[in-house]
Amino acid sequence: MKQAVSKTISEKALLLGGVYGILGLITNLWFIIPLYGNLSLHLGEVFVISCLITRGLYPAILASIITTAGLVYETGNYVFFISAILEIIILNTLLRKGVLLLLADAVFWVMLGIPITYLTIKYIYDVTSVDFMQVILLKQAVNGVLIVSIVALLKPFIPLRWFSAAVEPEVPKLSDRVFELSLNSISLPALIISLFLSDSAADNTEKQMENVLKTRTEYYISYLTNYVDYHLKSLRSLEAVVLEDDFTDDERDVLLNKWNKIYSGFITMLIANQSGLIISGSPAEFYNNIKSAPEEKRRIVDRDYFKVPKAELRGYVSEVFRGRGFGDDPIVAISVPILDENKKFLGIVEGSLNIPKFENIEESMPDSDGHIIIKDQNKNIIYSSPELDLNALDHFEIVDITPTFTNRMPIFELKGEQYLYHADTTDYGWRVVALAEPSILIGSYGHNFLRLTIILLFIAVLSLAVTRRFSKQITKPLENLVRNFAAHRPIQDSASNIQTSLEIESVREQLKEAQYLTLEYQESLKREVEIKTAELMKMNDQLKKMSIEDDLTKIFNRRGFEKSVYEIFKLSCRNKTPITFAILDVDHFKAVNDTWGHTVGDDCLVMIAKELKEHFQRETDFVARYGGEEFVVFLSGGNIDKHCRMLEEFRKKIAGQKVPANGNFVKLTISIGVYSLENDFNIGYHHLVSKADELLYQSKNNGRNRITCDSQ
Ligand code: GH3
Ligand code: MG
Ligand code: MG
Repeated sequence: MKQAVSKTISEKALLLGGVYGILGLITNLWFIIPLYGNLSLHLGEVFVISCLITRGLYPAILASIITTAGLVYETGNYVFFISAILEIIILNTLLRKGVLLLLADAVFWVMLGIPITYLTIKYIYDVTSVDFMQVILLKQAVNGVLIVSIVALLKPFIPLRWFSAAVEPEVPKLSDRVFELSLNSISLPALIISLFLSDSAADNTEKQMENVLKTRTEYYISYLTNYVDYHLKSLRSLEAVVLEDDFTDDERDVLLNKWNKIYSGFITMLIANQSGLIISGSPAEFYNNIKSAPEEKRRIVDRDYFKVPKAELRGYVSEVFRGRGFGDDPIVAISVPILDENKKFLGIVEGSLNIPKFENIEESMPDSDGHIIIKDQNKNIIYSSPELDLNALDHFEIVDITPTFTNRMPIFELKGEQYLYHADTTDYGWRVVALAEPSILIGSYGHNFLRLTIILLFIAVLSLAVTRRFSKQITKPLENLVRNFAAHRPIQDSASNIQTSLEIESVREQLKEAQYLTLEYQESLKREVEIKTAELMKMNDQLKKMSIEDDLTKIFNRRGFEKSVYEIFKLSCRNKTPITFAILDVDHFKAVNDTWGHTVGDDCLVMIAKELKEHFQRETDFVARYGGEEFVVFLSGGNIDKHCRMLEEFRKKIAGQKVPANGNFVKLTISIGVYSLENDFNIGYHHLVSKADELLYQSKNNGRNRITCDSQ
């Protein structure tokens, strides 16, 4: 039976865990909050942690597995399962120890969450950028804190019946409750605002970077265009001169040489006639090699820098190639056609243009940490920043990769490094690519995130301090009140400080009232106890007295007598002080009772006792009612004859007494047995009593109303 019940409970718990998990899964799949780049916030775990605090550990683990399944499916990475379940277990443990949810989660992220995420990114995702790694780590932690902040804020609104009976809600300290609430109400908005701000800040940084790269590209393009245009113009002006004047070959060579010296960007220059034959060249050492060569070696008809100007009658800029004979520098051939006034093609003027030394330009750029690649029409490298370590003339193609940390800028990978870039093309088909390392971008985002984390920590510490103080101000006066109350110290009439409130004052009034009533009650209780104690003591005295005194005659009873006499008997025996023990018995007392009634009988006994007290008054004289109508007398010191005389006198006295009885008088006699110790004290008390009793028996036998004395 019991097993069946627990089975249905656990089935219900798991079912609820499943519901929470599915809600979490839906949130993780369809309600993702995009952040910067491909970063995003997943809030599905809100349901997992809500499940933990309302339904307990096992349903929460189930909810966690379902919620995380989406993430695992998307990424194919099972580590998320481990991390999510660990988070739940650790939160559960810490929550049971009374740690606040927000602090518990912070502990998890610092101790395990961040290290696990770090290893995951490093070894599974192979993220190389340290900056980006930091951003991901911080984002994960912020994501976690955001989730528990939401849960902690929602918690007071969760209906109590949603809580499982198995989950015993901890009763937190008031200061902790105030701390949690105020921290959440500050941290959650701060978190959201900061996330929003750092996202837009990152976006701005990206825009700026895009502009910088654009400007840089434009700068290089205009520089290149100017450079090439400048040299094309120089060729055109030369062409004009060549046309105008009718030069001899030598004169033309001299002019070309002069031109080359003015435009030192040209490594070589040449002039070819309409049939593609080189007719002039510069510098002289270059041309001299060609001049003497056979004609077919001096023809350049097959070269693009001849063919294009001839066919299209326009200037031409070649792709890049390696110069021959004049060093290995990459060069570009530019040429213009020589035309007569009828636009008839007469030949070309060509210059091999040295690629400008961009290093100097790069160094003079304001953002010197950028890089540049310039490619020709065939995607061969004309120039690249030396730190990229690319070779001139190598073929180079940009292949975009999916951006992970930008909102819009393209990225490509080069030698394992990722670069943000912007590219543009010059009029003659060269491509200028400006590169930037993403670290600047991620760095700024990372800094924002870091700042955000520090601000959050600051807020946490601040609100901890403030709420501790605040809640102390609330709880301290209450604690003081209760402590005073418990210790029965008087509660003050009014608060000693200003940190009080109407509610606390009302509690104070009520406690004061309660304390007054309690004191009052205690007082009356005390009085009552005192009275009762006195009564008890009196009763005790009476009982004590009763135990040694005879109720009727108010003289010692047998017990009282023996208690008093026994010690004196022993002492007297030791000191050999004479002792007399007498037993007195009323004669025919039964007849008195029978004749006059028991009341008269009682009166007689009272009379005898009274007479005994009066007759034996010394300190060492003891009298007692021994039982029924028998009395005893114990005398010590002095003379035993005197003892006997006194007893004989007493017998006579009683015989002379008249006790009133119903208008008549009763006369009594007593018989006495007396045994004295004078010389021999070797006798026990009981033996002494029985001796006296024997002598009484003799008095009775000898006719009553007489005394029989003996001694040893
Ligand atoms: P004897 O001369 O042989 O002593 O005869 P007796 O009648 O005195 O002796 P017995 O022992 O036969 O009777 C004693 C009587 O004493 C019996 C009882 O009624 C009476 N008695 C004992 N105690 C009390 C008492 O407290 N009050 C009254 N009124 N009578 C008592
Ligand atoms: Mg008797
Ligand atoms: Mg008698």
